[in-house]
Amino acid sequence: MSEKFDAIIIGTGQAGPAMAQRMTQEGLKTAIIERKLFGGTCVNVGCIPTKALVASARAAYMARRGGDFGVVIDGGIIVDMKQVKARKDGIVLQSNQGVTNWMKNMNNLTVYEGHGCLESANTVRVNGELLEAKKIVINVGGRALVPDMPGIDTIDYLTNSSMMEVDFLPDHLVVIGGSYIGLEFAQMYRRFGSRVTVVHRGDRLVNREDPDVSEAIKEILENEGVEIRLGATCAGFEKRGDQVVVTANCASGPEAVVGSHVLLAVGRIPNTHDLGLEAAGVEVDRRGFITVDDMLATNVPGIWAIGDANGKGAFTHTSYNDYEILAANMFDNDPRRVSDRITAYGLFIDPPLGRAGMTETQVRESGRKALIGKMMMARVGRARERSETQGFMKILIDAESERILGASILGIGGDEIIHSLIDAMYADAPYTVIQRAMHIHPTVSELIPTMLGDLKPLE
Ligand SMILES: Cc1cc2nc3c(=O)[nH]c(=O)nc-3n(C[C@H](O)[C@H](O)[C@H](O)COP(=O)(O)OP(=O)(O)OC[C@H]3O[C@@H](n4cnc5c(N)ncnc54)[C@H](O)[C@@H]3O)c2cc1C
Repeated sequence: MSEKFDAIIIGTGQAGPAMAQRMTQEGLKTAIIERKLFGGTCVNVGCIPTKALVASARAAYMARRGGDFGVVIDGGIIVDMKQVKARKDGIVLQSNQGVTNWMKNMNNLTVYEGHGCLESANTVRVNGELLEAKKIVINVGGRALVPDMPGIDTIDYLTNSSMMEVDFLPDHLVVIGGSYIGLEFAQMYRRFGSRVTVVHRGDRLVNREDPDVSEAIKEILENEGVEIRLGATCAGFEKRGDQVVVTANCASGPEAVVGSHVLLAVGRIPNTHDLGLEAAGVEVDRRGFITVDDMLATNVPGIWAIGDANGKGAFTHTSYNDYEILAANMFDNDPRRVSDRITAYGLFIDPPLGRAGMTETQVRESGRKALIGKMMMARVGRARERSETQGFMKILIDAESERILGASILGIGGDEIIHSLIDAMYADAPYTVIQRAMHIHPTVSELIPTMLGDLKPLE
């Protein structure tokens, strides 16, 4: 016997809860299944806790820099890691409880706490019960990749999830992976007071960014004492007493890094291996991401996949945008498409990187005629007033259509300032609209029209 619903949602990540609200509002009798923490990665072990920790780390950094501003702190700066964690936990709890209460009090929604597994194209088993529905939405997200490196099983490594339990200061944190997640943790722990070494396979950090962006990020981190090993193909790990030896084939520096703790931040994999996708006939790609079309439908009619598990995005905003696309197509006769969205994301080191659209490298590869504008943060009055002049702004324009192709803003407020460019891109407005706009003084944004007034052909 199965319990019949109109719709079943598996996972309460960044898209599932909003989808549940919309489905129930549309009168669908809906079930939602969560096996662990309501709110998923972002709320519990991702965006929210890391940004809370980044804020504590920045407070420590600014306290140490007090003298630069004429603020004398009479005594040492002590970071109380127990309090740092308690603050972070309080912020997470608020968000987690918000989602939990939202789900548990929603009319027409039945919440199941357990692991959901498809048994066919329209049935899901959870806690021994069989649920049936014509519509199934998968929002199972992903988890940290733990590669099969020699010796990995012999050490107690940390991931973004177990890092959330750390309430002490690691003596020497070795971060494996110099990309978005790894670098946030690296800078944050350096600011808390740990010695930090980043061991990265590539020949530059965050390889997806332009080389000048990677270089500037490296400088920002090295200025604070983060040690960086590039070109490091990690050979393995070995426990030596209380220490962990990370052996790496490094392009520079001694081969082995000896640390007290290791954080693995080498990528994410989708939670699709134990979902019964084969029983339902749902196709995945070679990395396990569920294959979906431009409207997020899988190859099986009546089953959709939204969020990180479909491989079309790896962010909270892409997951939420997936919900909007699916809801628009399912209920509003509004043909929104994944391909309508413009690439946008942040890297939340301090100062942060805000990114939109194409990189300079991608523009060059596309072969189109383009213009480029670049301005160092050291030229921006607001940055100088705040003694935070690291980074730069860069923008790429299509020479013929005058549309913005992409931008990178690495510097104070970069994660916020990028949005005026994202909005102009969505409005499909020529760059001249922003160039002629009057922006507020003194801000970083006021220099964007100036930068646009000094574009050069991309050679
Ligand atoms: C350290 C870190 C920092 C990040 N920072 C940012 C950031 O600053 N900005 C940003 O945009 N993104 C950030 N991200 C990425 C962001 O967290 C994810 O893109 C986002 O959570 C989207 O996930 P989702 O909706 O696909 O599902 P998730 O949030 O991963 O949630 C999936 C849920 O499904 C549940 N589940 C899985 N399988 C089953 C099953 N079989 N049955 C029942 N339940 C199941 C899981 O328990 C989980 O609760 C960060 C990620 C990490 C790891």
